[in-house]
Amino acid sequence: MTDCLFCKIAAKQIPSSIVYEDEELLAFKDIHPAAPVHLLVIPKLHVATLSECNETHVALLGKMLALAPKLAREHGCEVSYDLDGKPGGGYKTLINSGPDGGQEVYHLHLHMYGGPRPWPGQ
Ligand code: AMP
Repeated sequence: MTDCLFCKIAAKQIPSSIVYEDEELLAFKDIHPAAPVHLLVIPKLHVATLSECNETHVALLGKMLALAPKLAREHGCEVSYDLDGKPGGGYKTLINSGPDGGQEVYHLHLHMYGGPRPWPGQ
C-alpha cells in the first residue's frame, strides 16, 4: 500500500530506528515510547489490522510473537528467575485493533513494552 506509514518504514522511505529485520518482519523503536523499551514488530506485507487476519496469517502472527523473547533478551527485559524461582524483568506485548481498540496506524503491529515500572500511562 503506497500511502501506509509502516509500509514506507519497511521500504526505508521513512527513517526509523530498526532493531531487527528479516525477509518477513521488521522491528523498530516506537517514536513516542510509552516505556523504557517500546518496540514495534510489523510484517513487511501490508495487513491493515488483526481483524483482517485468518488461518493464512497464522505463521506470520506466530513469527511476530516469537520475536518478542529475542528482542527482550537483546533489550534487557527478558524474564529471569532468582535462586528461589522468583521472576524478575519482563515485558508486555499488545496489538491494538480498530478505533475502539486504540489502533492509530492501520498496518498490523505488535507493541512490545519493557523496562522497570512504572511506565507512563500503563
Ligand atoms: P497504535 O495506536 O497501536 O496504532 O500504535 C501506533 C504506534 O506507532 C504509536 O505508538 C506511535 O507512537 C507509533 N509511531 C507512529 N509513527 C511512527 C514512526 N514514524 N516511527 C515509529 N513509531 C511510530
